[in-house]
Amino acid sequence: MSEERKPYLGNPQETIAVLQKYHFTFQKKFGQNFLIDPHVLEKIIRAARITRDDFVLEIGPGIGTMTQYLACAAGKVCAVEIDRNLIPILEDTLKDFDNVTVLNEDILKVDIGALARQQNGGKPIKVVANLPYYITTPIIMGLLESRAPVASMTVMVQKEVAARMQAVPGTKDYGALSLAVRYYAEPYIAANVPPNCFMPRPGVGSAVIRLTLHERPPVDVDDESLLFGIIRASFNQRRKTLANGLKNDQALDFTREEIEEAVEACGFPPSVRGETLSLEQFAALSNVLGKIRRNRK
Ligand code: SAM
Repeated sequence: MSEERKPYLGNPQETIAVLQKYHFTFQKKFGQNFLIDPHVLEKIIRAARITRDDFVLEIGPGIGTMTQYLACAAGKVCAVEIDRNLIPILEDTLKDFDNVTVLNEDILKVDIGALARQQNGGKPIKVVANLPYYITTPIIMGLLESRAPVASMTVMVQKEVAARMQAVPGTKDYGALSLAVRYYAEPYIAANVPPNCFMPRPGVGSAVIRLTLHERPPVDVDDESLLFGIIRASFNQRRKTLANGLKNDQALDFTREEIEEAVEACGFPPSVRGETLSLEQFAALSNVLGKIRRNRK
């Protein structure tokens, strides 16, 4: 463990010095916006509730700024970075932190379950990241759906995406992402972060959100793929009533009568819209529709 080391990155001067030393040029295609505000970095570490018992997976360490903070707080850190131009920089900035390993990989191709098994004996790991915004949803949904042993994810995302993840029924931000997140986790927005905390400045506002994963989903669902098919269909046609949205969906094979029967059995008014239904209500509807499908002659 790196007891005596202190993070020295995380401010504009040191960041510029490292970038110049290595003649580093930012790659837009990798969503590179590096953190340059120590208060934000400290907030992320606090929000993630990192202790010496934790194994942390960091996605996209950049020049190693947050990695240094994580190394000081956690037991072990594994940082996965796609850009090979950053690897010699990370070897330099992390050389004094002996609890960090760096993998030069695309996170979307890493088997996180296998990584947790090999490096943390299969115990739940914590994910912490200032995410590359171009792949925020695939990374988060991939991790949630993989059922890899992950205790929590504390991630910097676009402000709008954080709002959608934490949205409740009946609000404009509520949608399929809000429901998927609630199925797997409890969301909590820990901070809003303005563009001037990054180099270069992103064109959008950002937020730190913590997703604490449920041990098991909060609702009993007979068929998860049917549940998510229904949710997707309801929000694909947001302006339509739930019954019309479901009937028009190619992937679902229910007749109008079956859908109306299920809506009534759940006690919803015939004109109900998907955007007003909670996860519990979608789960009830999916269980009723699943039963109707099984009982077809
Ligand atoms: N953690 C650093 C910080 O906060 O200063 C950098 C964050 S920057 C927003 C995103 C980082 O993710 C970049 O270093 C980028 O190269 C890396 N990245 C982009 N796509 C990736 C991928 N598919 N797998 C792993 N890393 C990726």
